[in-house]
Amino acid sequence: MSNGEINLRDLQHPDIPVPEEMQSNIAVTSLSSLYNWARSRSIWPLLFGLACCAIEMIATAASRFDLARFGMEVMRASPRQADLMIVSGTVTKKMVVPIVRLYNQMPEPKYVLAMGACASGGGPFKEGYNVVSGIDKYIPVDVYVPGCPPTPQALLYGLIALQKKIEKQSLGVGASVPWYGSGPSEEVPVPILGPDIIDPRHAEVLRKEAKKNRPTPTVAEALAELTKAESA
Ligand code: SF4
Repeated sequence: MSNGEINLRDLQHPDIPVPEEMQSNIAVTSLSSLYNWARSRSIWPLLFGLACCAIEMIATAASRFDLARFGMEVMRASPRQADLMIVSGTVTKKMVVPIVRLYNQMPEPKYVLAMGACASGGGPFKEGYNVVSGIDKYIPVDVYVPGCPPTPQALLYGLIALQKKIEKQSLGVGASVPWYGSGPSEEVPVPILGPDIIDPRHAEVLRKEAKKNRPTPTVAEALAELTKAESA
């Protein structure tokens, strides 16, 4: 968090001491620290909300809580200019399709924060006919913020946790920055909405099940089986 001034002490390398009187003007640091320091203080969230949690997200950006203190106030209306997707609200089967498509369109490095019980696991609608049980079934989530809805303070805490996560990434450790110098990453297959949602990653299992030699029952047989199951 900053008040607009650069605090060079955040950047100081712990093993290379700089005299106290010079610390406000000189920092000896690593390229990774500088890179992460800049990124973690200018995370631009994607501008969209799904349900009641979105109202709390909007409050977080307004003057009382003021996301601008974190360099995050620039909510982008285009995924191509966004670093962070805040999934704030109930993810219905209909909405998960555009969410995955928007995620694919965000440039790397990109992060996802699941805000609230619904986005994290389905919340009060878990197992509902039209709701998915957590956005992490489809896209990778970096930070989960619990609550129904989480307060703006809770969202800020989650955003600070994300900043800490970014600060731990290192350009010298390839696994921690998979986007760096390795070309575009694979897209997440966009789910297909039919009578129910279908995740293309499960296509092989579905194909195998479909190939199993099960004779299609007649309507009378299916009804008889249903009655049998209900009376059991
Ligand atoms: S977690 Fe609660 S407040 Fe947030 S979208 Fe779901 S029902 Fe609404």
